[in-house]
Amino acid sequence: MENYSALCNVPRPFANESICSWLTRLSLSQGVSLWVMMGYLELKLHIDFDFRFWRLDLESISKKTGLSISDFKNQKIFSKSLRLYDYYASHYVMHYKRRRRFRFCSLCLQEDEIPYFRMEWRLKLCVSCPIHECLLEDHCHRCRNPITLPVNLFSKVSDTKPVESLANCQSCGAQLTKVNPASFKGALYEAMDLKSKKFIKDGGTLIPILYKGTHRFNKDTRAMQESFTMQAIDPKKKFKWTARTWRLKIKRYLKKYPSHTQ
Ligand SMILES: [Zn+2]
Ligand SMILES: [Zn+2]
Repeated sequence: MENYSALCNVPRPFANESICSWLTRLSLSQGVSLWVMMGYLELKLHIDFDFRFWRLDLESISKKTGLSISDFKNQKIFSKSLRLYDYYASHYVMHYKRRRRFRFCSLCLQEDEIPYFRMEWRLKLCVSCPIHECLLEDHCHRCRNPITLPVNLFSKVSDTKPVESLANCQSCGAQLTKVNPASFKGALYEAMDLKSKKFIKDGGTLIPILYKGTHRFNKDTRAMQESFTMQAIDPKKKFKWTARTWRLKIKRYLKKYPSHTQ
């Protein structure tokens, strides 16, 4: 029984889903705590599931979940791409108190039928959403706690509360989608400085490259690498905006130029 799995209705990871996000959804789908699921899959929490992916025993995970190894193809490629530049996933990748920290796009989470977190939302260089042209959020808008995964959503389920999803803040339960997006569309884009615009543009170029396969920076992309390294390790950040500071900026900007609408 090669593909025997004790689990049923196992969710497949989405094409660009972080393994931390998938593990959270997987344990909730089976009605068990994250710790029980990790024990079953023989996973150790200290491994960075997203960017130390090659340390996972994928064959055993696919057997135990009934999924195929190819369901994790993109996650494998993405983590391998980053491995070239950040072997220990310690510089380019965000952490918070030794946990795995994510930014998020509130509009993406809102549009998801099943909310999930993207792999690139863990990268320091990924500051915006190319689909919605807004900056990614750094915190829950209500309690200001950062989002870290995987999280034990099962512990938050109760008789009186509906089943939570990844679109809820794990600390206070607020809906992460209920925030005014830090948009830089159209006229608002004009309010942004050139350096920041370039950073957003380069990020938009580089992330699809990381998903395509292991990539060595060449003469066309080397400048991007420099700016991302600066962003990752230099306290003087290349990209200075956060969703919060950008919202304040556009508020002032629209007051000054009321004809420039969002
Ligand atoms: Zn988005
Ligand atoms: Zn919160």
